[in-house]
Amino acid sequence: MSRFWSPFVRDLVPYVPGEQPKIANLVKLNTNEHPFGPSPRAIEAMKAAVGDDLRLYPDPNADLLKAAIADYFKLAEQGGDKSWVFVGNGSDEVLAHAFHGLFQHEQPLLFPDITYSFYHVYAGLYGIRHETVPLNERFEIDPADYARPNGGIIFPNPNAPTGCLLALDAIERMLQGSPDSVVLVDEAYIDFGGETAISLVSRYPNLLVTQTLSKSRALAGLRVGLAIGQPHLIEALARIKDSFNSYPLGRVAQAGARAAFEDRSHFDSMCEMVIMQRDSLSVKLERMGFEVLPSGANFVFARHPAHRGADLAAALRERAVLVRHFKQARIDDFLRITIGTPEQHRALLTALEEILG
Ligand SMILES: *Cc1c(COP(=O)(O)O)cnc(C)c1O
Repeated sequence: MSRFWSPFVRDLVPYVPGEQPKIANLVKLNTNEHPFGPSPRAIEAMKAAVGDDLRLYPDPNADLLKAAIADYFKLAEQGGDKSWVFVGNGSDEVLAHAFHGLFQHEQPLLFPDITYSFYHVYAGLYGIRHETVPLNERFEIDPADYARPNGGIIFPNPNAPTGCLLALDAIERMLQGSPDSVVLVDEAYIDFGGETAISLVSRYPNLLVTQTLSKSRALAGLRVGLAIGQPHLIEALARIKDSFNSYPLGRVAQAGARAAFEDRSHFDSMCEMVIMQRDSLSVKLERMGFEVLPSGANFVFARHPAHRGADLAAALRERAVLVRHFKQARIDDFLRITIGTPEQHRALLTALEEILG
């Protein structure tokens, strides 16, 4: 608090990301980073982009990157092209622009009660009326609960931090139930076994899909995210971007992100490895007595009937294993555990055996 602050800043409640401690040998399973690393071709492309050209501004429209993304998602087959693509400095920035540009209406924005906590923060930042919709008793989104007047709908698919995946036909029902407002599907984790809603974009003028290179493409440090939708939605985002920062992606980020989309084989095999590790970790946790929600993401959400979530997280931390715990009703006893390497999983399971006794 400072006398120099505006009343607006005084009232902001910022997002709190998972901690990034500077401790060596930590088993870091708390922020859903990728365990295996980015495409070597992306790294080469970024190295090649570091040179004298950095004195020049980057392409403000990131046209080559957008073309690579349009190509990767085969937008031409739906009659689309790179004008259906928006890119930003992490999908968080893309989401912020969507809140600002597409969700400010008379009716409330709807999102799940248990979801990505940044949605509350953006609604607060932009003063957007919003209401939360409870997940059902299996921690799933029920499309019927969203069939009411609204100024927009946003949810992650799979949801975070539960990992629960929603099928495409359920998403279609939501799109049809709210034809006059934007439905934003935040697909930060879709590549770990889900089916993207991008295939629906040509048929639904109210659909916006966001993705990120931070999770499945192992480039959280690069900060690149994207949105795909029909051009009238993309134009709203571009108008905000060009009123805020014309160059959200530098030359290195554009080059690296483009190469990451072009390297399909590295991407496919890395996703497969994470899915394999997820399924084997889930089985092992269940054997230890944990209830593990079915996950379509690169993390699992699990609780133990005999232990408080906060206690488990603290005991793991003492053993240099970091997982995420949320102090929130209904999920207070769950741990969100990022999928790591086999070695990290061994350390996690050894620590849990010790704690559970
Ligand atoms: C990680 C995450 C994002 C944001 O990722 P960026 O690193 O900003 O691209 C968005 N939505 C959800 C649900 C996430 O978990």
